[in-house]
Amino acid sequence: MSKDLEVQYTAGLKAALDRGYDVLRDNGSALDAVVAAICSLEDNPLFNAGKGAVFTKKGLNEMDAAIMDGSNLAAGGIAGVRNIKNPIKLAKEVMLHSGHVLLSGSGAAEFAINQGMVMTPDEYFFNQERYDQWVEIRDTNFTQLDHKGDNLKGPAVAPNPDHKFGTVGAVACDVHGNLAAGTSTGGMTNKRFGRIGDSPVIGAGTYANNETCAISCTGHGEFFLRAVVAHDVSCLMEYKGLSLKEACDVVVKDKLVKLGGEGGLIAVDAKGNYDFCFNSAGMYRGMRNSAGEEVVAYYGL
Ligand code: ASP
Repeated sequence: MSKDLEVQYTAGLKAALDRGYDVLRDNGSALDAVVAAICSLEDNPLFNAGKGAVFTKKGLNEMDAAIMDGSNLAAGGIAGVRNIKNPIKLAKEVMLHSGHVLLSGSGAAEFAINQGMVMTPDEYFFNQERYDQWVEIRDTNFTQLDHKGDNLKGPAVAPNPDHKFGTVGAVACDVHGNLAAGTSTGGMTNKRFGRIGDSPVIGAGTYANNETCAISCTGHGEFFLRAVVAHDVSCLMEYKGLSLKEACDVVVKDKLVKLGGEGGLIAVDAKGNYDFCFNSAGMYRGMRNSAGEEVVAYYGL
């Protein structure tokens, strides 16, 4: 990454951390902090979510997102939705007001309009870099992860050595020990057939439970779905008594690697312990807490 780009990413990550932290400092909920942080990333074209979402095979931007409240296990998600400015806000609406957990496609868009959500035209999502990324592979049947992907496996996935920008997610622990997790993404470049990744699927890419942890994942979604990654971390803590870090290591650095799934996750528990865990070369990540610690990092640990 060039120095200039690193400055931009650092600013983007710090802005998201600050937006989330401000909510928590003002005694807001973990849930609202997650929404605030993710909206900041969705509005930033550098990230593959909201404004910066990648292009599908048909040249569209179809977004997936989910949110979960660890205090009551309420959850909401949307999949394959277009023209919604902040997918994470729509996921929260689904959780609070739809009576359902996961809405998709035109039905989810109809729900968004009914709820008075901000809708944006296709042009809002145009991004030259994402477009060029798509043009390179649109005449193939490859999909491409918006990550550095030298070690990706699976016939339908093209390696992506140049681009390192991915899905966004946030996890938070508030002053009451309540946890929340959220994830938002454009998915994979050149995806087709209404492909849905792990991000909007509760238990796969997103999960929160006050008794264990809050998790948001990024990586090759098909593997994260098969490994039910976020819930597996929670289960290892609940059933086996592992610590947050131990559980993340087992799932990401052992089980996922054996399956061939590249990616990682961010995690926090109700004591405020946090972990960044990934089996890829790097993962853009950040943390801010009330002890005054602040971290922004990109490459391997
Ligand atoms: N997990 C996302 C998906 O498969 C992609 C990503 O994390 O960048 O849709």
